[in-house]
Amino acid sequence: MNYKAPKGTKDILPSESHIWQYIEKKAQKTFENANYKEIRTPIFESTELFTRGVGDSTDIVNKEMYTFTQKDRSLTLRPENTAGVVRAFIEHGMNRLSTPLKLWYKGAMFRYERPQAGRQRQFHQLGVELFGIEGPSADAEVIQLAMNFLKDLELNNLCLEINNIGCPACRDEYKNKLKAVIQPKLEEFCEDCHIRFEKNPLRILDCKNEKCRELLSSEEIETVINQDFICEECVKHFEELKKYLETLNVDYKINKKLVRGLDYYNRTVFEITSSDLGSQNAVCGGGRYDPLVKTLGGEYTPAIGWAIGMERLVSLYKSKQENPLDIFIVSSCAKEALNLAFKLRKANISADLDFSARKFAKQIEKASKIGAKYVLILGEDELNSGILTLKNLSTGQQSKVSLDQIFEMF
Ligand code: ATP
Ligand code: MG
Repeated sequence: MNYKAPKGTKDILPSESHIWQYIEKKAQKTFENANYKEIRTPIFESTELFTRGVGDSTDIVNKEMYTFTQKDRSLTLRPENTAGVVRAFIEHGMNRLSTPLKLWYKGAMFRYERPQAGRQRQFHQLGVELFGIEGPSADAEVIQLAMNFLKDLELNNLCLEINNIGCPACRDEYKNKLKAVIQPKLEEFCEDCHIRFEKNPLRILDCKNEKCRELLSSEEIETVINQDFICEECVKHFEELKKYLETLNVDYKINKKLVRGLDYYNRTVFEITSSDLGSQNAVCGGGRYDPLVKTLGGEYTPAIGWAIGMERLVSLYKSKQENPLDIFIVSSCAKEALNLAFKLRKANISADLDFSARKFAKQIEKASKIGAKYVLILGEDELNSGILTLKNLSTGQQSKVSLDQIFEMF
């Protein structure tokens, strides 16, 4: 039998894993600098956590969950991590730790979607969540964190889009207006939009179907979308956020059609896209979810967060070079060569060797092929004298050195 990785999943091979490591290291440093602490939650949770925490009007809950039953218990592989982090936040009474409480995570997520470039069934996210701050300073901090992180990775063609989708108090009126203007054309919208129309009409704005998008750009519907429906408090929050972003020199665009996935988002929602990506161009998505902690059984705690899709980020990074090996030891005496490699590695110099006692020319050829910076030749003469021959593979320059001199060089 021919085994293959399941559809929608991918092996991350050594030719690519160094990029993942580079990004993950940068992420850890960036988040720790801003005082976010890492949290690791289980890869599966009770199904109900997601139906309540993500919302039953979302595509994620309706069509994309990997759910299984174990001893009458319904469990689901996490399709996203906010629900799990909020569950842990409540379960461990983390609201007592500090305000704000800032967490970050990385890991695999699972959604049954149609696989295509930038869209998989097992994919990976990096994300942050900030709990306890109602005001827009928190929104500005998390947005700036995402933008700076992406810019630090030298991604330049980025676009930040923001919107304020109001709060439960002001959104109902907007929903009704939207329903009224969509109703006459409802038949022409896709089947999913019919369900959204009943459960959460705002999500129609997020429909990816071409025909629906075309219908949404009609003048009547656009007029409603462009009206300022949000209440005074929400307007104030949004205006202040814009000022924060201006002060922080973070460029943004307002997109009134931006609503995003979870049902429990309120006020600020945002997305970062890159024009260097193909049609799946969103690299980061996030928003404020003030009602969620209470919905899942905790004390009311305002919160905001975002998630970055690792696969999309890595694809923007394909050209990045792997860190080259410092030294390749060429020798006919494996024991001595291993001993030397051990000493070099202990001094934090990366080192490898040829495990055969092939001709030196062949060994040097291999060192060039794997892109090593130097070869260190350990032949009979060198073993006797303790003086080694070091060859720089890019310049071809060769010199006699002692081990101590090598330690000093790196
Ligand atoms: P999209 O509109 O692309 O479906 P989304 O709104 O479902 O995205 P979120 O749930 O907010 O996305 O996830 C945040 C980020 O995770 C996305 O911006 C994207 O980079 C990444 N992402 C989401 N789903 C997938 C997937 N199936 N495969 C790869 N990356 C994904
Ligand atoms: Mg999606």
